[in-house]
Amino acid sequence: MSDTKVPQKTDLKALTKSELQDFCKELGLPRFRADQIFQWLYQKGVRSFDEMTNLSKDLRARLDEVAFISGLEVVSQQESKDGTIKFLFRLDDEGKDYKVEAVMIPDFYPDGVPKRLTVCVSSQVGCVFGCSFCATGKMGFFRNLTHGEVVDQVQYINSLTEQKYDKKITNIVYMGMGEPLHNYKTVTTSAEIISDPLSIELSPKRITVSTVGLTKQIKQLADEQQPFNLAISLHAASDGKRDEIMPINNSMNLEALEEAVKYYHQKTDRSLTYEYLLFDGFNDGPEDARNLSNIVKWAPSKVNIIMYNNVMGVELQRAREERLDNFLKELIRYDVRATVRRSRGDDIDAGCGQLAIREGQERGKTIAKT
Ligand code: SF4
Repeated sequence: MSDTKVPQKTDLKALTKSELQDFCKELGLPRFRADQIFQWLYQKGVRSFDEMTNLSKDLRARLDEVAFISGLEVVSQQESKDGTIKFLFRLDDEGKDYKVEAVMIPDFYPDGVPKRLTVCVSSQVGCVFGCSFCATGKMGFFRNLTHGEVVDQVQYINSLTEQKYDKKITNIVYMGMGEPLHNYKTVTTSAEIISDPLSIELSPKRITVSTVGLTKQIKQLADEQQPFNLAISLHAASDGKRDEIMPINNSMNLEALEEAVKYYHQKTDRSLTYEYLLFDGFNDGPEDARNLSNIVKWAPSKVNIIMYNNVMGVELQRAREERLDNFLKELIRYDVRATVRRSRGDDIDAGCGQLAIREGQERGKTIAKT
């Protein structure tokens, strides 16, 4: 039996831009070829070398021998009455049936023309952090996405909005399945690719990365002067309540978060956003508003109050309108800048992770006690 090893093909979508340049250099190709290939991959979204028509036939055949292009497959697409579209993608893993979700949330002018087309992307299959209100958290963690898989979600949805509305997507939020800063390299690399002029060319100012509060990575974003916006998923304004719903708070509490946020602001001079899901009778009282007002003093920031999409099997429920009104009045009293994000796509399982769970995703690792 021969033990000659068959050389493994390289997944071009797993390479960063500079790694792709090195890969092309090793093949003896000039630099502009790397740019052309990058553009085919990330602007035109091709899935085969044959489609790269400005490369010679010989070069396409050579690339086919040494490399391949991975990609996501769309499993389902649901459109809500309000225009929100939820996508379920299957990953390219042999023998596994991993799926992730992405959502496109449109905002329209009164005449029906889209004003903003926001895409919410996933960064992991499942999540290890086990927040009690989150459908993805109930799944546990399976694996990190590659940057190519994140860009694929964006690219697929961007080509859809171009067809449907004749408009590019306008904003990206890393708030889908997974904790983005737990997959730091993928998130920063994919955001860099998405803002590249040879790709979708979305300004970094329109890209927001969220985190439950991974303090080391928040500082890393600051040290690297990453140009993207930062949002902290706070959801409770005292350690007691945060401990109850977010297991991460046991090891990284509000004091640690405060230190990281101040560090981030000092180093970058940037403001940030706190995401605050409003749960009925849990975190929507006057005391919660007061605690929240102290947190927003850590650094220039604003608060997004998010009306929760109820999740099956979760006791916490979306706050009633009168409780929301009272909470907002309290925040105004404390001079807190807050906007309310109404829940979208209620009729299509648009809460993160709900669709994947319904489609039979199994259970993985978690840090939650349960
Ligand atoms: S809210 Fe975010 S960090 Fe928490 S379990 Fe869900 S995906 Fe993970």
